[in-house]
Amino acid sequence: EQQNQNKIPQATAKRLPLYYRFLNNLNHQGKKRVSSKELSEAVKVDSATIRRDFSYFGALGKKGYGYNVEYLLGFFRKTLDQDELTEVALIGVGNLGTAFLNYNFMKNNNTKIVVAFDKSSHKSGSEVGGIPVYNIGELENRLNGVRVAILTVPASEAQHITDRLVAHGIEGILNFTPARIAVPSHVRVHHIDLAVELQSLVYFLKHYPMKDQET
Ligand code: ATP
Repeated sequence: EQQNQNKIPQATAKRLPLYYRFLNNLNHQGKKRVSSKELSEAVKVDSATIRRDFSYFGALGKKGYGYNVEYLLGFFRKTLDQDELTEVALIGVGNLGTAFLNYNFMKNNNTKIVVAFDKSSHKSGSEVGGIPVYNIGELENRLNGVRVAILTVPASEAQHITDRLVAHGIEGILNFTPARIAVPSHVRVHHIDLAVELQSLVYFLKHYPMKDQET
């Protein structure tokens, strides 16, 4: 299974959750087949790319007949570990962190924040959104083998916290701070800077306006 996944190009792997969400909706609607054209319009990926992606999944779509929704869902579930719950830790229970704790990720996929940490003494020792918040001093004792972390601390704290997380076995970090963090090569960091993303959206709106949709 691991070997199979390694054969999928990274760019294709990044589109998997997108495909997965859309196919899941189709499945709920009782649809059995989907064409690459339908998919393309829904997920905004050109149909040649979709056909190439799907060939890696072993899904063969016949012209005008489309792909088998159930088969694809089964494949995605396995590949995305949808059958397995991935536990996540959250560091920094400020405005953004609190929103994440209250947001139910489980609705769409099998990741769950199971533990949170903050340095503030009036935030720790309580629960937010049903998830226990511990003092950051207890990080090492309370991680309990969790391998994925969400960082919502101030930028100035990001590297220091990252070092402690990595030292305790964290393998993936979703970094919401504006700080660029350094990690050893076995650790994967995905960086989401909301301010930069918004700015970029506004820039694109201004300089590359969307054409009116045909049809
Ligand atoms: P708030 O309004 O609650 O302060 P915020 O998101 O505007 O939220 P930030 O200054 O970005 O505030 O801090 C986010 C959270 O990270 C805060 O709850 C803060 O207590 C916490 N925090 C700051 N430093 C650390 C640290 N070293 N370890 C853990 N948590 C920290």
